Amino acid sequence: MNNFPSVDAIQSDLVTQVRDVVGDDFARRVGDLGRLVKIQGIAWEAFDAANLETSAEAVAQLLRETGVFELVEIRRAEADGKPGSPAVVARRAAKNGKPTFLLYAHHDVQPPGNLDDWETPPFEPTLKNGRIYARGAADDKAGIVVHLTAIETLRKLAGDDFDLGISVFIEGEEEAGSRTFRPFLDQNRDILAADAIVVADSGNWTADIPALTTTLRGVVSQVFEVSTIDHALHSGMYGGAVPDAMMAMTRLLTTLHNEDGSVAVDGLVSGKAMELPYSEAELRRDAGADEPLELIGNGSILDRLWTQPAITVIGIDGQSVALSSNTLLPRVKAKISMRIAPGDDPDRALAALRAHLEKHVPFKAKLVYHEIETGKPFKADAAGWAQALAETALEAAFGNKTAHIGIGGSIPFIADLTEVFPDAQILVTGVEDADSRAHSPNESLEVESFRKAMVAETLMLLKANDLTRQE
Ligand SMILES: [Zn+2]
Repeated sequence: MNNFPSVDAIQSDLVTQVRDVVGDDFARRVGDLGRLVKIQGIAWEAFDAANLETSAEAVAQLLRETGVFELVEIRRAEADGKPGSPAVVARRAAKNGKPTFLLYAHHDVQPPGNLDDWETPPFEPTLKNGRIYARGAADDKAGIVVHLTAIETLRKLAGDDFDLGISVFIEGEEEAGSRTFRPFLDQNRDILAADAIVVADSGNWTADIPALTTTLRGVVSQVFEVSTIDHALHSGMYGGAVPDAMMAMTRLLTTLHNEDGSVAVDGLVSGKAMELPYSEAELRRDAGADEPLELIGNGSILDRLWTQPAITVIGIDGQSVALSSNTLLPRVKAKISMRIAPGDDPDRALAALRAHLEKHVPFKAKLVYHEIETGKPFKADAAGWAQALAETALEAAFGNKTAHIGIGGSIPFIADLTEVFPDAQILVTGVEDADSRAHSPNESLEVESFRKAMVAETLMLLKANDLTRQE
């Protein structure tokens, strides 16, 4: 039902042709990016929401100007009785058995932060050393412009009457936590339904090596309490014979890791990341973890960061040092945050964590569970037709093989997309590179990777326009 032949080569004359057309329009596209960047659409409550309206309208206008859509509208959903920020949707139906692509990006941006930290004005796009500096230049207004360019170039090369279906969803509150994302998907399911979803909001491995973000870790957090005695006792009178809750808790917490710091909980999924150059020295520099501090875990650094579970105790409530007295504490609370590997399941992982805690709690102390939070991990369909097509297109545009990168944290809305559109293949692409500094002062976009991303997405849509659904 969701199957198309896979494309594993693109003719070099087509690549040249696309590069030429993208090149002819490139200055105009950089101008579009500049105009979008000047609109300070920030979806945080402290900022003027009118800018988000202006921003959504500007994006809608650019989508209308492509001339390919049957519908372009600004819509919003509601959550907890409060309306969300304006999102832009567009739709052109597929014809003759061709696939439909949903192109996602977001038009809101992070606040600029401390203005003194910016070397150029945050909302004034500035070209310097082959990069465009501005808040949103990379995250994620470049994503919007890449989509627009791919759509218009497809139209130029395949003709007005092309068969590919295209849906567009430009969200307006991603940087504020995508509060109404799920109801928005549910309410606009018909418009957004697609065979493949291109989420242009991540990055490449370097400015020259393209990447698909193929894995995200999920998260399971659990608050729990360990108690031993029913009231606090004098530590002089009872210490040494009666166990206190802090002793029970700390002994329990140390069982969560092996001697090398890797996770000791049985039954969690663990995988391998693609081999990419990322050394221990680079990790030490990025993390500020200087020698002689030892690193923890085993496997490659990227395995540890992307495809293995990690457990962190992120809070303990016992007694503060200031208020401490010579007593045995009757109860202690802790919060564990567990990152779970791509391919794992939050419910199963939570059950494994609880089984571990119950098995290892010492002295038959009492264990009580409190709040939990869960988020699903993501693992792209590596064997899927859409991923093969995307990799081929990226390789043709960048001249280098596509890296499969992971993110150790999560992007919650990806889990929503997989739930609402279980049959769609999800391609997480983007224009950022290691120097983009998304969310930080002096955010920037490398101009040549912007251009290559346009070429890659155009090639992907052009080839998809020739694919016929296999029954
Ligand atoms: Zn973003």
